Amino acid sequence: LFVCFEGGDGGGKSTQAQLLVDWVTSTGRKALLTRQPGGTVVGQEFRRIVLSPETGDLSPRTEALAYAADKAEHVDTVVRPALERGEVVVTDRYVDSALAYQGAGRVLDVDEVEQLMRWATGGLRPHLTVVLDLPPEAGLGRFEGRDRIEGESLEFHERVREQFLALAARDPDHYLVLPARASVESIHAAIRARLEPLLPE
Ligand code: C5P
Repeated sequence: LFVCFEGGDGGGKSTQAQLLVDWVTSTGRKALLTRQPGGTVVGQEFRRIVLSPETGDLSPRTEALAYAADKAEHVDTVVRPALERGEVVVTDRYVDSALAYQGAGRVLDVDEVEQLMRWATGGLRPHLTVVLDLPPEAGLGRFEGRDRIEGESLEFHERVREQFLALAARDPDHYLVLPARASVESIHAAIRARLEPLLPE
């Protein structure tokens, strides 16, 4: 079972991903918590390249390719092997982040970015994507002091948010959109309720 957390910055994805993995583990199943960018050794290098202030602003296509490379390595060496072992894999960000940030955010053609990311991931799709939705001005406040690209406008983050919501609206069977400002416990409970029937034996 492959589950992704998506949404803007500061919505509590990492917290919820950890709670989910703890819960799955408590049911006696094996679960792997991982993330993009940076879920592999080489992915840490890609993460540094795309997020380090020293690198400065990359050309949008360079940035998209770096994210694509991070995903290829992550899927081939971490995600697929774990799924093949029957584990529940929970990732903090996946393809939708690229469609939202590199596509809508940096204003690349979203369909082209999607083709690139589908190729990079060998077409691996999550069984469920949880979108933790919140207005960007709320999320960015909670994000101060952490690594992020300077100079991204509020409009940029509005486009990112709208893209996540559009992806979810397109395929409701595979998405769960939750307001990120609800309590940690109630969000976790909603995710559990949706996933319980999907858990492997
Ligand atoms: O969620 P995480 O801490 O891994 O994200 C780090 C930063 O990378 C965030 O500020 C996010 O906006 C950015 N990001 C991005 N494009 C992606 C994934 C993450 O710009 N595809």
